[in-house]
Amino acid sequence: MTNHIIQLDDVSFSYDHSIVLDHIHLEVGEGEFWALIGPNGSGKSTLINIILGLLKPSSGSVELFGSDINSFKHRERIGYVSQKSNSFNSGFPATVLEVVRSGLTRKSGLFRSFSKKDEQKALKSLGIVGMESFARQNIGELSGGQQQRVFIARALVGEPDLLIMDEPTVGIDQQNVASFYSMLNELNRDHGIAIVLVTHEIDLVTDLATHVACLNRSIHFHGIQSDYKKMDDEDISNWYGHPVRRVHQFETEVDQ
Ligand code: ADP
Repeated sequence: MTNHIIQLDDVSFSYDHSIVLDHIHLEVGEGEFWALIGPNGSGKSTLINIILGLLKPSSGSVELFGSDINSFKHRERIGYVSQKSNSFNSGFPATVLEVVRSGLTRKSGLFRSFSKKDEQKALKSLGIVGMESFARQNIGELSGGQQQRVFIARALVGEPDLLIMDEPTVGIDQQNVASFYSMLNELNRDHGIAIVLVTHEIDLVTDLATHVACLNRSIHFHGIQSDYKKMDDEDISNWYGHPVRRVHQFETEVDQ
């Protein structure tokens, strides 16, 4: 039987009086790679904020690693990379290594003292995302895609079992997106880290993910990737809110 690391049961959420999430059921198992996809404004970030404990659902229950979220004590098991992470400008006075090390404790600042062991953990984490050779470089000198890898290394430094990413390819050049996704695939496959990747792009990512959830206020589909692929374009368009068609194994929005 799969052990669930995220279990949402009948979760609803409203901002003021407008319902943003409507009776959501979602179960993410150990080692699974989920793409949570939906158009802008479909409630993806709200759902992630609920999983992270930053918002309380209006009704329903959330369990993380088998514990009710209200009594969950192992935040370090979850690494999170937000949408706005990769935006350090060139003058920012921190090295890549300092940024990654700062993920080791919530209380630490970028520049507090760290042990040699902390440094080794940070270097190992940078190695996983293919960025070890950038350790001594200033974070602001890196491209958006490189910075995003560094932020993933920061999220991995505490050795989480689950990595949640909100729109991680924003700010990455199109030609680097495929290699970024293949790095995520390795993380999942070779390191056994479960991934929840949030995106409004219904393309490449659904080819990498083992599971897909389609959100637009409610969950329109959730299940294994091959079943998602069997859905016809009309079903996908109805959920997404405007026409989409799939080209080869990838999905592409139809030009309006
Ligand atoms: P997504 O991440 O899919 O773009 P969000 O979860 O950010 O969607 O937003 C879902 C809906 O909730 C949108 O209609 C958005 O305008 C609304 N919303 C988001 N944050 C707030 C807020 N703090 N107050 C009121 N409405 C909000």
